[in-house]
Amino acid sequence: MKRKINEQDALRRARLVLVMLFTGVCLITLSHVAHVSAALNLESVVSFGQSRIPDSLKKSRSEKVRILVVTGGHDFEESSFFQMFEEMKAISYTHLRFKQGAEEMLTLDAARDYDAIVFYDMNQNREPHWKGWLALLEKGKGTVFLHHALGSYPDWDEYGRIVGGRASFNYKRVIEGVPHATFKHDVAFHVKIADKSHPITNGLKDFDILDETYNRFVVNPDVHVLLTAEHPTSGKIIGWTHRYKNSPIVYLQLGHGPTAYENKNFRTLVERSIKWAAGRLSDGQNNNQE
Ligand SMILES: [Zn+2]
Repeated sequence: MKRKINEQDALRRARLVLVMLFTGVCLITLSHVAHVSAALNLESVVSFGQSRIPDSLKKSRSEKVRILVVTGGHDFEESSFFQMFEEMKAISYTHLRFKQGAEEMLTLDAARDYDAIVFYDMNQNREPHWKGWLALLEKGKGTVFLHHALGSYPDWDEYGRIVGGRASFNYKRVIEGVPHATFKHDVAFHVKIADKSHPITNGLKDFDILDETYNRFVVNPDVHVLLTAEHPTSGKIIGWTHRYKNSPIVYLQLGHGPTAYENKNFRTLVERSIKWAAGRLSDGQNNNQE
């Protein structure tokens, strides 16, 4: 009898060991499947574009967004302009001018460490950097164009496709399909938020600004409109996003001088545009960007 009990005990123990082993194998398999599916998920969200990458997979919020600011071909109030970037705590910037090193940075390798590039130039000559820059945009580099950057490279049709619009400010060289653009300084006008649910404009109210206006510039029909202006000296659409190749692009027409640089709404728009282009702006509940 005692032996029989011992045998039953042994059997029970053996069963318990088997159950534990089986459970262990199941757990290991499950965790493996979870890992693989997480990896697959990551790949699929990445391939569908940065806007869908879950926050948990994005770079840590504590890491600064590193940007390259490119200028050249147009004067501006430098100290006041860069003060704006100094005061953006989440952003660290490097500044380079065309003809002083900017051209060399516009390649896949050289721009690798920048999360986004901000152009505040009015460069007219696409040599020698245009091929390297196109390769960079093809690969996907978040890019923000500000104000007079709309008037860069008026002879280069592809530039209009990169920015989502273009302007020719040159009286002597009006290009076919691009009317001669006009500008007016120190205009007090009203800016309307055309899409209040986009991550860049989310929560912002229409606002007033003292800035330069442009008129008779080209806006491509496929851009996603963020801002419009209400003034006879201004074209209607003055801010948009779109995608060129694999690069998220923002254009903000505001930003001629200190009255704009110091405008709280303009600063918010610039900072959010940079973060959005860099894939670092949380979509929150608003995923309706293009
Ligand atoms: Zn200007």
